[in-house]
Amino acid sequence: PDAYWGVIYNLCEKYGLNYLHGSWWPCLEDLFEENVPVYRFLQRPGDLVWVNSGCVHWVQAVGWCNNIAWNVGPLTARQYQLGIERYEWNKLQSFKSIVPMVHLSWNLARNIKVSDPKLFELIKNCLLRTLKHCAIVLEFVKSKGVEVRFHGRGKNEASHYCGQCEVEVFNILFIREQEKRHIVHCLDCAKKQTPSLEGFVCLEEYRMSELMEVFDNFSIHPVQSPSGSTA
Ligand SMILES: [Zn+2]
Repeated sequence: PDAYWGVIYNLCEKYGLNYLHGSWWPCLEDLFEENVPVYRFLQRPGDLVWVNSGCVHWVQAVGWCNNIAWNVGPLTARQYQLGIERYEWNKLQSFKSIVPMVHLSWNLARNIKVSDPKLFELIKNCLLRTLKHCAIVLEFVKSKGVEVRFHGRGKNEASHYCGQCEVEVFNILFIREQEKRHIVHCLDCAKKQTPSLEGFVCLEEYRMSELMEVFDNFSIHPVQSPSGSTA
């Protein structure tokens, strides 16, 4: 489980490997020595193996096989919290997160009724932090005298990542043409290139009022039992 990822991270460091980028076949004795529980088993035809969130795993074929794996995310507080924590850690390590957690959180707030108080709290907190971040970025951009152009968003437009550091860029994009292509930047990378932001076009995908409305409307839903009474 995820509680042991730190131990495995340390073992990677010890062997001069990178936990996020590297590839490693751990030595069982090392894991036993660190009291990491290890399950080792043979997956037979037709078997489905469920690997829980945050569990480090590795697989070896004993013969020919087809390899099918899905990444799934059950909508639980624990899964969401681990997802957010890993997302933040990846940012610090400049490692691209496959799931754009901010974009996902705003979509959850728009489309999902949440009745688990813990999950609700976690999502609401993420919305609050990104809302605050957007406000600060907009203020900064305006202080530099750069115009913010409303751009909106296509219906199934993918979320954006910074072309320099691969961090998810939500709502406020800094665009610069490089070799005839429009490259999205995060604020940090844009500032690194040009502290005055000169030469960048700043696009806004959502209006602040729109985000504020989503934030305000995202509320906890009581659990409905079949008889109609609330639990
Ligand atoms: Zn960046």
